[in-house]
Amino acid sequence: MYSARVLALLLAASISIVTALFLSLVNDVAVKAIIVAGIISFSVSYILIFVVLEYLIFGEINKIYKMMDKLQKVELGEFAIKKTNHLNPLKKINEEIHTFAALKQKEIDELKKLETFRKEFVADVSHELKTPIFAAQGFVHTLLDGAVNDKNVRTKFLKKAAKSLDGLDALVQDLLTLSQIETGDIKMKFENIDLYNLCLEAIDQFEQRAKAKGIEIQVAKPEKMIIVHADWLRITQVITNLVSNALKYSNENGQVTIRFEVGKKSVTTFVTDNGEGIPKAHLDRIFERFYRVDKSRSRERGGTGLGLAIVKHILEGHKSKAEVQSVPGHGSTFSFKLPLAKLDSRSTESSA
Ligand code: ADP
Repeated sequence: MYSARVLALLLAASISIVTALFLSLVNDVAVKAIIVAGIISFSVSYILIFVVLEYLIFGEINKIYKMMDKLQKVELGEFAIKKTNHLNPLKKINEEIHTFAALKQKEIDELKKLETFRKEFVADVSHELKTPIFAAQGFVHTLLDGAVNDKNVRTKFLKKAAKSLDGLDALVQDLLTLSQIETGDIKMKFENIDLYNLCLEAIDQFEQRAKAKGIEIQVAKPEKMIIVHADWLRITQVITNLVSNALKYSNENGQVTIRFEVGKKSVTTFVTDNGEGIPKAHLDRIFERFYRVDKSRSRERGGTGLGLAIVKHILEGHKSKAEVQSVPGHGSTFSFKLPLAKLDSRSTESSA
């Protein structure tokens, strides 16, 4: 409105000056008449221009702007322009167009990134699936080509084929878990849980495996009961994956320890092994899907390359993250924080 008035004032002033100048060039026109003509032409043109600008043009633009403002609040989110003090609707529209263009560009960039990620993921998964399938296929065909008649070779090849198929099964299970966590199909069920008991239950399944390698798994008993607010099943999966790795990448007669450090509001759980360790250059990348320090060694030991990616996602669902410290040849320590339960915190459900 203010701009319409200023513009009308400027145009009206120009018209009245031109009128006055024109009249001053005509002979016999008195100065008084020129002044009166100037004032009249100023007033009339001001009113006409103001009405045209305000009601026919700026009024319409302001209506459009108000509508866009409403839409913007719904659609643009963080991109919604800050309320500037521009009262000029043309400037406002200019800002709107820039904001809208920036938003669309951001959407395009994100879609491009997703597309690249999707392509890489499909390529990775295909490659990972191919390895155990080809191996099993090879063993079965060799058997069919005659090796089946040799009892020793038959058993050996069948065992190898079975190992490849077990690896395939583990891979598909891990892929399913990861995709369910990422798409939010797995809901986190937060409740107050006893962390020490959870760890004891989680390591139960490793008794045979640890014994076979002569590895001892210890869970340090805390002075007081540690109750955290977390999802029992998912945190069990985190401990399972970390202990499984600790066993996988430890030498015979090694040692795996779980211990806790209790703070005021949270507790940190440490899973330590004295195995082969991880070179520094790889530490930042081991939580990525399919990233392995040594691909063949991981596969040989039944690794899918997804264990730590699952750990990362579960901890993100708990607003936490996994840390790792490692010295090659001496061992690794993985740790993560969980919030201690408040006395009145009740069970809640939320998406991962
Ligand atoms: P994998 O199924 O191959 O074990 P993970 O995602 O669980 O996949 O781990 C990624 C990689 O990180 C592993 O291939 C291994 O190289 C390394 N790693 C993980 N945990 C340990 C550990 N405790 N000690 C040594 N290396 C480890």
